[in-house]
Amino acid sequence: SHVADLIAAGEVVERPASVVKELVENAMDAGATAVRVEIRRGGMGLIRVSDDGCGIAPVELPTAFLRHATSKLRSAEDLGSIGTLGFRGEALAAIAAVSRVEILTRPKGAQSGASLHLEGGVPGPVEEAGAPEGTTVTVRDLFYNTPARLKFMKKDSAETAAVAGLLQHLAMSHPDISFQLIKDGAEALHTPGDGKLESAIYAALGREFARSLLAVEGRGGEVAVEGYVTMPLQSRGSRSMQVFFVNGRFIKSQLLTAALEEGYRNQIMKGKFPGCVLSVTLPVTAVDVNVHPAKTTVKFAREKEVFDAVYHTVLDCLSARGG
Ligand code: ADP
Ligand code: MG
Repeated sequence: SHVADLIAAGEVVERPASVVKELVENAMDAGATAVRVEIRRGGMGLIRVSDDGCGIAPVELPTAFLRHATSKLRSAEDLGSIGTLGFRGEALAAIAAVSRVEILTRPKGAQSGASLHLEGGVPGPVEEAGAPEGTTVTVRDLFYNTPARLKFMKKDSAETAAVAGLLQHLAMSHPDISFQLIKDGAEALHTPGDGKLESAIYAALGREFARSLLAVEGRGGEVAVEGYVTMPLQSRGSRSMQVFFVNGRFIKSQLLTAALEEGYRNQIMKGKFPGCVLSVTLPVTAVDVNVHPAKTTVKFAREKEVFDAVYHTVLDCLSARGG
């Protein structure tokens, strides 16, 4: 029903960044090697995500926007991992319910593409249309039909920053995919997608930060740690330059921050923080599921094991450099 759609929409679609996240994840699921995101007015005016993925067959186009419509089979293990999988098949329906959506798509190898327009979730006819291979979803006038939600939106600049942060993190957790972000007509991010984490960090966080990094790698029990930390005493840092991925997903964690900083001991200047891009990999059963799409937090089953793995990896790598 319409009401159920709007309630579901409220849970999946909190703000422009949550729309971008769902659309980009769909693009990645479709096997895209390049994902382009365009936003205007912090995404409140327009959000457009284009990919070069598998595309959607015209006959399946209306189905993709039905609630609980998913073409993806998930294993029990997938369901146990962190992410948005609790909302299977909800994202497109939820986004369409609270905006005006246009989708243009052409399956790989197909002769022609198709387009579909939806207004407040109500679909028009599927029309044949010229299109490059892949999919482009355009979302306009987000929350136009939910005034209460619209009223509580932050400033456009805050929304732009949230989308930019999201794209940075996605780019660094998927260096094999090229990500581009255009905000209000200007390119804000463009990663090469060459599979190298260094290139993604360079493009996402800047040359100066990328230059100050040391590679680290270690393991403790079932916890593997890999990535980059800033060189001792060079850090001009703020904690916003601490980027952690757990099983490939960006998360915020006081435990990981504490383990990183403890690893530096006396090697950072007072009042400064080390920066990092660290990837922590552990069995999915050792991470507590948090299925809310907007959440970037996590609970570890064995906190000490995770702390020690990160702490020792950082400490050992810094000491090996004679720090
Ligand atoms: P889910 O991703 O959980 O399956 P969504 O509502 O996000 O649910 O998407 C519904 C379906 O639409 C997907 O299962 C997929 O078949 C199709 N789809 C959505 N976006 C894309 C895309 N960019 N490329 C190809 N197929 C897509
Ligand atoms: Mg999805």
